[in-house]
Amino acid sequence: MKRRDVIAGLGSGILAAGLTACGNQADTKKSATSSFKTIHWSMVTTWPKNFQGLGEGAEYLAKLIDNMSGGRLKIRVLGAGEMVPALQVFDTVSAGTAQMGHGAAYYWKGKMAAAPFFGAVPFGMNAQEMNAWLLKGEGLKLWEALYEPFDVIPRPCGNTGVQMAGWFNKEINNLDDLKGLKMRIPGLGGEVLKRAGGVPVLLPGSEVFTSLERGALDAAEWVGPYNDLAFGLYKAAKYYYYPGWHEPGSTMEAIINKQALRSLPDDLQAIVLNACLIANQDMLSEFTFRNFEALNTLQNQHHVILKKLPDEVLDHLKKLSVEVVKESVANDKQGQKIYQSYHDFLKGVKKWTALSEMAYLQARQDS
Ligand code: CA
Repeated sequence: MKRRDVIAGLGSGILAAGLTACGNQADTKKSATSSFKTIHWSMVTTWPKNFQGLGEGAEYLAKLIDNMSGGRLKIRVLGAGEMVPALQVFDTVSAGTAQMGHGAAYYWKGKMAAAPFFGAVPFGMNAQEMNAWLLKGEGLKLWEALYEPFDVIPRPCGNTGVQMAGWFNKEINNLDDLKGLKMRIPGLGGEVLKRAGGVPVLLPGSEVFTSLERGALDAAEWVGPYNDLAFGLYKAAKYYYYPGWHEPGSTMEAIINKQALRSLPDDLQAIVLNACLIANQDMLSEFTFRNFEALNTLQNQHHVILKKLPDEVLDHLKKLSVEVVKESVANDKQGQKIYQSYHDFLKGVKKWTALSEMAYLQARQDS
């Protein structure tokens, strides 16, 4: 019943939008100011409903679009499994069954080898650098071209900032400690761990706690203090390691069905696209704000042991990451173009980051 209602809602939404778009300018203006018909969209997401930070980010985007449009475009947000499972979000938006989606590009790695470049790359760009590459450099154009054959338009729509390396049941003192390490770590980071002798395991977030607690895993990464505290991961493992070398500025995405977007009046199209960018910044602020509070709770109330991965381990993982990232698009011409753009921008921007942000943060920390 629920699903039929949603789909029925979608049909009338598209029809209303189509009629508005086909009308003349005066009609459009009239519909925008007085007797407009509300357009209803659905947004499928890869997150549990209202999940801290990420699912909330999708809800925030929907509310923003509702407010900015004066109630002309209403979007119903669906958690993973409500209309479709998390990993079918892209296909559902591509088919137009839902007009929008919210998730992260690295989930579509199986479909497009270069997708992780728009989500997270081990030892890659942080949030600030990603936004610069996407919004001022070539990033967004390349991302749009990658999704174009699927009738899907992407926008950056949230960022977790640098994540944590994860929760470990034993100390990591040297490279040997990675050998045979069974760890929940997805994507390119997992490939790197495998090359270092570890055993990456793919598990959805909901199963991470139980597997770690039962000893089926030696370690698990999730996000950072805010989300990890909510999952109770401190009860399942003793050591909390940093930094999140594998997800240094994970970008979330909003995806929009191309026909659905183009069927909206121009002002609503602009609202949808620009609301994504507001939500993009909002989520990063949210994570920065919540993470430090959660970190205090983890340390002071739950007595978590915080540890930095040894330099020897980080240096080795970095060396392996360079190989893994390059090889990930070895058989993909479009992917190589994306890799090259990402690589060149990072190479250039990291010089500036080193003598601006990094030098300043070091000076502030030492003083
Ligand atoms: Ca993660």
